[in-house]
Amino acid sequence: MRLYENEAKTAFEREGIAVPRALGVFERAADIRGRIGPDSPVMLKALVLIGGRGKAGGVRRAAGQAEAVLLAAQMLGLKIRDYSVERLLVEEAVEAVGGAAYVGVTMNPGDFNVTVIVSPAGGVDIEQVARESPEKILRVELPANDEALPEAEASRLAAFLASGLAGGAVQADALKAVISKVYAVFQKYDCKVAEINPLLLTAAGPVAADAKIVLDDNGLYRQSGLFHLLGLTTARHDVSEPTRNEVRARVAGFRYVDLLAEDHKKDPGKLYVGLVPGGAGYGIFSIDEVANVGDRFFGGRVVPVNFMDSGGGPTVEMVAEMFDLLFDYQAVDLVITSRFGGISSCDIFIRGLVGCLRERRKAGRRVVPVFGRMVGTDLPSARDFLEKAKRETPEELKDMHITVGNRKIMAEVIREGIRYAFDRKGWT
Ligand code: GDP
Ligand code: MN
Repeated sequence: MRLYENEAKTAFEREGIAVPRALGVFERAADIRGRIGPDSPVMLKALVLIGGRGKAGGVRRAAGQAEAVLLAAQMLGLKIRDYSVERLLVEEAVEAVGGAAYVGVTMNPGDFNVTVIVSPAGGVDIEQVARESPEKILRVELPANDEALPEAEASRLAAFLASGLAGGAVQADALKAVISKVYAVFQKYDCKVAEINPLLLTAAGPVAADAKIVLDDNGLYRQSGLFHLLGLTTARHDVSEPTRNEVRARVAGFRYVDLLAEDHKKDPGKLYVGLVPGGAGYGIFSIDEVANVGDRFFGGRVVPVNFMDSGGGPTVEMVAEMFDLLFDYQAVDLVITSRFGGISSCDIFIRGLVGCLRERRKAGRRVVPVFGRMVGTDLPSARDFLEKAKRETPEELKDMHITVGNRKIMAEVIREGIRYAFDRKGWT
């Protein structure tokens, strides 16, 4: 569960980290009037649960009340990557005199070590710093998952920050305290991420100008103290996290994960493959296999786009919706499917796929070639249905290529499908 910036700041402040003085959270520009001095500079910050607001116009500075009201009117109702700005946090602007730092604590998903990351190049995406100037980042992993950041590590991290910041030398002790406190917040609230970016070095010491906290949903049950502190009564569903496809799948009742960002720009030289696998394990395997076959035989020009899993025993309607989602997904050039019928039935699977293709063809909706294989439960009736369907509506099903039974391994089916799609594009 993600916290809004003002909530994260409350948590950091409770730990003793300085944050800018808040003037309030506003839903209407007019309400700001009378709350700010005519010449008091303030920051207006969109309360949305995504990062990178600065670049999208979601963080603005106003010189005083009049400008703040004007800017607020512009920002409220703004869309930041499809999420509308309904509330603004207004704070006194703080002035950095000694630079901007990044301080973050997270868990390394590769080895599960708690990891502290600091950089004197704060205020920009840490991913960008990592790409462009990795020497400006220090990462310290704590395999023992210590409750408090060990003294020696805190000193080492602070010294690294202090040496890279203009005003670092005089604020080294204060930086060390902030790093330890961010770490303490991470542990105390069962965080997945606790981060300050930027931590501004002001004349009065380091101030957290931005704050990000993501709570581990598995730990929420023991965070009633934090909920109380923030005035929250129930856990919040992170509506801004899933993509449109993911939301659609959730509504339909199957699991789906997009592997590409929603604003991913398609590479016109690559083939994008959607996957309707049979089961979660097969879903993960298919992603690897499509990428592997693409690397080996097609010059690495093949991109798997999704994970999907129907769970045991989907209905015909759900199978149809799984295919519908991928046909509606404009990036997808080819669908690879496999039904390894254990719990779920090949018969239901093929009825769902055929029904989906017929309806879409009839309605003139977008369809891409489908290659796949089905084996296992209910195969005889599935085969009968498929043969009859192809005789009845050959035109509707002409781009559907389903191997019945174990005559081929999936790698061959995948390779054939990609070959077919490459040929259609005139690629070699
Ligand atoms: P994000 O883009 O969503 O991470 O939003 P931030 O809160 O980090 O704001 C974007 C940028 O605005 C920061 O990197 C800072 O450069 C700047 N900024 C935000 N708050 C303040 C502030 O109080 N004072 C100053 N001088 N700059 C700020
Ligand atoms: Mn930020």
